[in-house]
Amino acid sequence: MAHKLMVVIPCYNEEEVLPETSRRLVDKMASLVKKGLITEDSRVLLVNDGSRDRTWEMICDLHKQNPLFEGVKLSRNRGHQNALLAGLMTARNRCDISISMDADLQDDMDAMDRFIEKYNEGCEIVYGVRNKRETDTFFKRETALMFYRLMKALGVDITFNHADYRLMSNRALNALAQFDEVNLFLRGLAPLAGFQSDVVYYDRAERFAGESKYPFKKMLAFAIDGITSFSVKPLRLITTVGMVIFVLSLFMLLYALISWVSGHTVSGWTSTLASIWMIGGIQLLSLGVIGEYVGKIYNEAKRRPRFIIDRYLSESGDDPVVDHQK
Ligand code: UDP
Ligand code: MG
Repeated sequence: MAHKLMVVIPCYNEEEVLPETSRRLVDKMASLVKKGLITEDSRVLLVNDGSRDRTWEMICDLHKQNPLFEGVKLSRNRGHQNALLAGLMTARNRCDISISMDADLQDDMDAMDRFIEKYNEGCEIVYGVRNKRETDTFFKRETALMFYRLMKALGVDITFNHADYRLMSNRALNALAQFDEVNLFLRGLAPLAGFQSDVVYYDRAERFAGESKYPFKKMLAFAIDGITSFSVKPLRLITTVGMVIFVLSLFMLLYALISWVSGHTVSGWTSTLASIWMIGGIQLLSLGVIGEYVGKIYNEAKRRPRFIIDRYLSESGDDPVVDHQK
């Protein structure tokens, strides 16, 4: 049986890749229809994440030329995860299945067939996993690997080398809609939604054109977000370190008392200095970690909308929609 598919693509300053991406999507969608995997009213939803170039104009043109393309315009730049969520929440209840992917053609479109086959076998979520990361720089590859290892060590259920190329059924989207958090890390939330899931391997290509919208600073912030949104182990680690230092300090006290009894009280300058610096450093670090979580609580407590939709170019015309946040 064929299903109605919505492909959700966040786009931020992607004018260089959109013409090629849309061309390939037209072909891909036609071939999926031909194979009987998706229905003819399947759509591609392009989410403009407050781009400063001609991305939105291009999306409007695509929509005019071909009803296959729908467009969502966010009121301003909100970042990849929020833009993706805006797209997924718009697709929710308008399709049977959604597939999220990047605009830059790094995700191999031919894996979509296998995604849908897995859905037909009963999976509600299918994770696209990169076979190899040769197309990434050495630095990106290594830091990403470190990140996944750290997440595993902290007890977070996360799929290795899975970015946001993923199939989610409408049921899974409805489950995702129940997660209200403002600090978004979608690839960690999907496993929390549960359901039967599987992985599909694909080769990740190089960015087709333009440059990465994830500079190192954004990547680091994303990684810290991922860890602190899903694990409180760093907080526990502070307690452990505190306890170890307390035990050490007992030995230091013993040492100090012995020195005092034996009359060497003036010496010991080095150890005093060393311990002041060390304790000071550990305390500042610990405060920083706690601060990170307090900041999270602050953001969650405000419950600000995660995205605001300015326009929605759909079949039924151009709707200004603002109530998709939930
Ligand atoms: N993106 C977005 N908002 C942003 C940054 C990125 O919607 O603020 C989109 C971007 O257009 C692309 C996807 O997120 O479709 C992934 O970005 P990119 O390819 O630059 O990341 P990388 O592959 O280098 O990690
Ligand atoms: Mg990319």
